[in-house]
Amino acid sequence: MENNDRYSRQMRLSQIGEAGQKKIESLRILVLGCGALGSAGAETLARMGVGFLRLVDRDSVEFSNLPRQHLFKEADAEFKFPKVIAAAKALSEINSRVKTETHILNVDAGNIEPLLENIDAVIDGFDRVEMRYLLNDICVKKNIPWFYAGIRAARAAIMPVIPQGPCFRCVFPDVPAKNSLPTCEDIGVLGAAVATASAFQVTSLIRYFLEHPAKTFLINADLWTQDISKIQVEKEKDCPCCGKHRFEFLDEKKTSGHVE
Ligand SMILES: [Zn+2]
Repeated sequence: MENNDRYSRQMRLSQIGEAGQKKIESLRILVLGCGALGSAGAETLARMGVGFLRLVDRDSVEFSNLPRQHLFKEADAEFKFPKVIAAAKALSEINSRVKTETHILNVDAGNIEPLLENIDAVIDGFDRVEMRYLLNDICVKKNIPWFYAGIRAARAAIMPVIPQGPCFRCVFPDVPAKNSLPTCEDIGVLGAAVATASAFQVTSLIRYFLEHPAKTFLINADLWTQDISKIQVEKEKDCPCCGKHRFEFLDEKKTSGHVE
């Protein structure tokens, strides 16, 4: 009864319904990076009632995180709590039915594989673009959908990477040269862009499991100028990852991770 009440408005959505809600409650999601996107995504998924969240991040909460990292409070920064511990506590207070598992870990090619065990999908909360190539490799190899989102300043980019669809390398074949892209450290980040990117990211994850959409779109949204574009992306048959099954980033075993 409590369950029906809690989710009644969500289940009234024609896109979700009772069957959709049951599916949502069965989902086991890996959240890689519990910074801005990771904590926003984890919060929305917990409120929607997903069954299980595996939280991974190596860092502790800092005051500079608070403007955009949804789950954290001043006390978490004061005591420098590990992000995954602070996030799990906040999530259990939001929805005690959601099971969480925490890993304080610097993700790299050598330790990423076990994190995907018994996982239905991955929320990309990485803040370094090269880590997405590693995530893309392991998810294509294991046929697990992952949901890319990136933010720079006031701009958000979002793309689902689903089995049989175009992968991240079909669209972005190579890691950008070092220092060729400004980081959030350099140019800052608008907190509201996090909410937008996360809303697209989480909704496309849920929609994937309820509707299995066949087409893949890359969305770019600039919150400041309000320019939004939606481009259909196609599979590249010569893609080294999903086309030729060469998992160069995974095989390198030395990509070092940094998650915000
Ligand atoms: Zn590909």
